[in-house]
Amino acid sequence: MAKIALITGITGQDGAYLAEFLIKKGYVVHGIKRRSSLFNTERIDHLYQDPHLENRNLILHYGDMTDSMNLTRIIGDVKPDEIYNLAAMSHVKVSFDTPEYTANADGIGTLRVLEAVRLLGLTDKTRIYQASTSELYGLVQEVPQKETTPFYPRSPYAVAKMYAYWITVNYREAYGMHASNGILFNHESPLRGETFVTRKVTRAVARIVLGLQKEVFMGNLSSKRDWGHAKDYIKAMYLILQQDTPDDYVISTGVTTSIRDFIKMTFAKLGVTVEFRGEDESEEGFIASVDETLFAQKVGLEYLAGFKDRVGMTVVKVDPAYFRPTEVDLLIGDNTKARTKLGWNPEYDLDSLCVDMITSDLTLMKKETFLRDGGYRINNYFE
Ligand code: NAP
Ligand code: GDP
Repeated sequence: MAKIALITGITGQDGAYLAEFLIKKGYVVHGIKRRSSLFNTERIDHLYQDPHLENRNLILHYGDMTDSMNLTRIIGDVKPDEIYNLAAMSHVKVSFDTPEYTANADGIGTLRVLEAVRLLGLTDKTRIYQASTSELYGLVQEVPQKETTPFYPRSPYAVAKMYAYWITVNYREAYGMHASNGILFNHESPLRGETFVTRKVTRAVARIVLGLQKEVFMGNLSSKRDWGHAKDYIKAMYLILQQDTPDDYVISTGVTTSIRDFIKMTFAKLGVTVEFRGEDESEEGFIASVDETLFAQKVGLEYLAGFKDRVGMTVVKVDPAYFRPTEVDLLIGDNTKARTKLGWNPEYDLDSLCVDMITSDLTLMKKETFLRDGGYRINNYFE
């Protein structure tokens, strides 16, 4: 009998990679998606199967983390062996604008899943993975951060996730449930949401070198993140649920990089050297030089003539609108426990992650250039 997994948040970055990974392992995957006025299944369209087919291995259900009865009904119908609770309002800055909703979906939403499993008598059958986050460390109390480092959340998102973390631990201890937290540090990919910083940068850099956009407005350039690849991180989620004993694990790379350096690195992959001048809100990044051979090879010779004129010009500016009321300045994780106990070994480093993202966004944006040259202009994105 194939194992059955239920993924909340299947339409998100991690949900899409995890669904594909579990299907390849022979699982039948059920996913919860929200009703939306537009299709929101782009990340999993390649896995979609017609509901009229027999023996499907991907089945979608409408649902929402704020609706207990809906979650209880789906879990009761599906009776999953494993639940991956990935659904969340996952954007830190947006959580300051929608704090109550974030608490409901990200905090109480987790309780709803745990309580449904308990009330349905699935405590011994269903294993639960909770998508916890390095944002819990917030104002960091220790460098690097590990499983025993005290939490100090710095946003409504992180505070909601703190409730979710502890209610998961509590259900494990109170009812003997196989419920575990993955404390995942930031992980990115070509599927990352467009308003998270790495994807915002790779999209903007692609558009700037293709002449589709002049500059990009950023927030705090000095904060540092420990970035890994989502493809590696979903494997850790799976490994956590295959352990005999439930437990909590830090998943990270152990390397931290500033936003400023990530911007430089992304331009450099295309032969463009960007340097920064000025401070705080007046800081700006400008094009210092272009390696024409590398640019022609990575971007395309046809874009070189136009781009060369831009040497000396500003391509990055700071807009305080992107600052957060309280910031998380530094994250860097110690993944020793995951490596030794789970045998987890990431394949990507930041360099290969950056190449994967910029290559993908260049391809996407070239389609846009093609559309523009055909007489159709898509909006300028500054988000
Ligand atoms: P994501 O791309 O933003 O995906 C979030 C998913 O949750 C989407 O499928 C979204 O649906 C769904 N969702 C949001 N609110 C919902 C609600 N009320 N009811 C049902 N579904 C809802 O996030 P991700 O990067 O894949 O991250 C997955 C999980 O890991 C999240 O819980 C996130 O907070 C956590 N996490 C992420 C990172 C990271 O660096 N990526 C690090 C640590 C922890 P729509 O597609 O309809 O919006
Ligand atoms: P987070 O770590 O979950 O908040 O992930 P993000 O990718 O949203 O942000 C990572 C870091 O980048 C934070 O310290 C942000 O303040 C910083 N940052 C700087 N400029 C921007 C920006 O324009 N957008 C976003 N999302 N973050 C930015």
